[in-house]
Amino acid sequence: MPSYPHLLAPLDLGHTVLKNRVLMGSMHTGLEERGDWNRVAEYYAERARGGVALIVTGGMAPNAEGGVFPGAAGLYTPQDIANHRQVTDRVHAEGGKIAMQILHAGRYAYGPDCVAPSAIKSPISPFKPRPLDEAGIEKQIADIVLAAARAQQAGYDGVEVMGSEGYFLNQFLCAATNHRRDRWGGDYANRMRLPVEVVKRVRETVGPDFIVIYRISLIDLVPGGQSFDEVLRLAHAIEAAGASILNTGIGWHEARVPTIATSVPRGGWAWVTRKLMGKVGIPVITSNRINTPELAEDLLAKGAADMVSLARPFLADPEFVTKAASGRAREIAPCIACNQACLDHTFQGKISSCLVNPRAGHETELNYTPTDTPKRIAVVGAGPAGLMAALVADQRGHDVTLYEADARIGGQLNMARIIPGKEEFHGLVEWFSTMLGASRITLHLTTRATPDMLLGYDDVIIATGVIPRDPAIDGQTAPHVLRYTDVLRNAAPVGARVVVVGAGGIGFDMAEYLAHQGPSATLDLPLWQREWGVTDPALAPGGLAPNGPQPTPSARAITLVQRKPGRPGKGLGKTTGWIHRASLAAKGVTMLGGMTYKRISAEGLVVERDGAEQTLPADTIVLCTGQDPLRDLADVLPQAHVIGGADVAAELDAKRAIDQGARLAASL
Ligand code: NAP
Ligand code: SF4
Repeated sequence: MPSYPHLLAPLDLGHTVLKNRVLMGSMHTGLEERGDWNRVAEYYAERARGGVALIVTGGMAPNAEGGVFPGAAGLYTPQDIANHRQVTDRVHAEGGKIAMQILHAGRYAYGPDCVAPSAIKSPISPFKPRPLDEAGIEKQIADIVLAAARAQQAGYDGVEVMGSEGYFLNQFLCAATNHRRDRWGGDYANRMRLPVEVVKRVRETVGPDFIVIYRISLIDLVPGGQSFDEVLRLAHAIEAAGASILNTGIGWHEARVPTIATSVPRGGWAWVTRKLMGKVGIPVITSNRINTPELAEDLLAKGAADMVSLARPFLADPEFVTKAASGRAREIAPCIACNQACLDHTFQGKISSCLVNPRAGHETELNYTPTDTPKRIAVVGAGPAGLMAALVADQRGHDVTLYEADARIGGQLNMARIIPGKEEFHGLVEWFSTMLGASRITLHLTTRATPDMLLGYDDVIIATGVIPRDPAIDGQTAPHVLRYTDVLRNAAPVGARVVVVGAGGIGFDMAEYLAHQGPSATLDLPLWQREWGVTDPALAPGGLAPNGPQPTPSARAITLVQRKPGRPGKGLGKTTGWIHRASLAAKGVTMLGGMTYKRISAEGLVVERDGAEQTLPADTIVLCTGQDPLRDLADVLPQAHVIGGADVAAELDAKRAIDQGARLAASL
């Protein structure tokens, strides 16, 4: 049984002791803005109960102009203090500690009142910021310091000053965003004046017995980013100004390098934190794509950092630490770094939750309470919807039988997991398997349930999933036309020139799969860094390789097409779609919209586009044209509950399937 001695070792900060080396990193929840502070408190309390040493809240604005969007949560009024007090009281009652992140967005503030060192618009915002004068800068410092003082009044154990990710303080540090000629701009000593001054005045205000974390941008990943010498200078100055801990920030939000997506190698940025180890006298935290206790332990054991920050993994499983500490690490629900229910929700103005754990952010309304009336429940289909329904029903005390036609569980997850860059899906299927093993569920594999078999149950849940949609293109029965399922099952060879028909999530995955050759970059950090043009910030400022990205050439000539006008990929995840588009573009995949499919010939796909007919040459045509519900059973069992793709196939994803399965089982 792994014991994680480094991970579970306490950390003495002098005035206080952290009980282990795990920090829950800051994440926007979307709850504070809705005003239900009981719900906010329960969200954090559940994570404190799970054993994390120190929680950092989502970013709180120090003033209106610094909010990430108009109306973003902050700490400016006496009522704010009372609200935040609910959170700190509940976390402390669970034996936890919590620091409030002070986030001034600068030119990333999504509103016309945004302010910055210079009037330079960000490429990811439509708003040109107002440059601050001397008095304006003093006001920002005063507001940040006041927010820290109010955080202390509200009972927080500390604050995290957000100095990375391209936000306000980071904008002063880089010459590309700071064109000032006064004492706040020009050479690096001037450019770092603001963050250092902020930390100094925060420390003076809160006194010595309060945690002050500074989130330092160790690798900016933007042109004109800081050199590592500059980063080191800043780290020393921030330490001297009174910070207790340095937390790692990786990349600006406008960087064209993925930093937390599922295709980023696990622990793929810890090497940057390690560069700081031994250079400062305060603890250093590493961050990004750390999602198992084994990896966290390994990083700490190898001296990459003094602490690890995990953020999304605490959405997937609030009990990450207690499970690791009690020999139940395999039961930790894994964060697969998909962003689908957390960051994508944030950008859509929704509450942050988790694909793997639909309770995240919904702790006060979705609970798997023991049932008073245990029932016999049959679940048909062991894809994500059926698995989650079965597990929740079992957890609540029902007697569950799960039927699966395939020889293994996982459904569509088994297709996702073989796409290069989606290796995290292996862990999700393994977790479902572990949890089934630990449950009382009776599992029948290789068993296609019939209506007769489902007689006598109190409830029947149909989660039979989907079948590929027939696009009815003339000539599609030719042998060189394959469905995506045939390709992923290696049922037939695929030629050198391929047209992928349908550019949804599966079309993009298919293009990635067919373009791929050699090892997956997600499992090979140096290769991944070459592909995305990342280098040591000690060699090139900002950590961008001077020769740019060096993608591995595509294994095939691939054209990805859709009928909708415009460039394919607009419907992909808000925070990850650009990565898929950029990855395919780098490999030379042609992406075309506005097609009318006329027929398939021996030469390829005949299309009409802009009124002209043409043939897209192909040796193989792969159909990825969406899915339809598989409803054979559902149609003959009208009283059954139907969930997942069997219910609605359009825009199906594992997030909806798992959420629907959990909510149904919680209600039975
Ligand atoms: P989708 O996102 O609905 O995309 C279907 C594609 O096929 C679209 O490009 C659509 O574009 C085209 N299409 C739809 N009906 C068609 C028809 N009758 N004839 C020709 N083309 C048609 O579906 P998907 O790609 O199957 O992905 C479904 C979901 O699964 C996604 O939301 C994703 O999150 C998830 N996903 C699953 C996997 C997996 O391995 N299981 C992998 C990635 C994503 P036009 O109508 O413009 O042609
Ligand atoms: Fe992780 Fe995806 Fe859950 Fe976000 S939604 S916490 S990325 S598993």
